[in-house]
Amino acid sequence: MPYDDQNVFAKILRAEIPCDKVYEDDWALAFKDISPKAPTHLLVIPRGAYVSMDDFSAHASEAEIAGFFRAVGAVARDAGAAADGYRFLANHGRDAHQEVPHFHVHIFAGRDLGGMIRRAKD
Ligand code: 5GP
Repeated sequence: MPYDDQNVFAKILRAEIPCDKVYEDDWALAFKDISPKAPTHLLVIPRGAYVSMDDFSAHASEAEIAGFFRAVGAVARDAGAAADGYRFLANHGRDAHQEVPHFHVHIFAGRDLGGMIRRAKD
């Protein structure tokens, strides 16, 4: 899938629409999810134009990958989530219900997050 530069996170990166920013550096921007699924629900996105984890892991440079995942850890730590725990995940593609086609990691924290995963119809 080609990268769509009109996706909502591309617009946030260009500051065309606002976000509740919690972190930024040369590699990543992090902000609060607009529809939080946990007391802490943050999104971390790379500055580069990558559709998903599949695209990012295949095409990003070593520096982008290292910088991005260091940022994910820093965001969780800065949110105070490292002590009691957090979950991070990235949805890729149809079966994972990826909505926004710019690679992003969700960070969830602030309560017991329950078991690992459930199927939609279980
Ligand atoms: P996905 O299903 O693609 O992994 O998750 C996309 C996430 O982006 C959802 O949790 C959704 O609430 C969040 N989201 C969608 N549009 C916006 C927006 O304009 N601003 C922010 N902060 N989050 C958004």
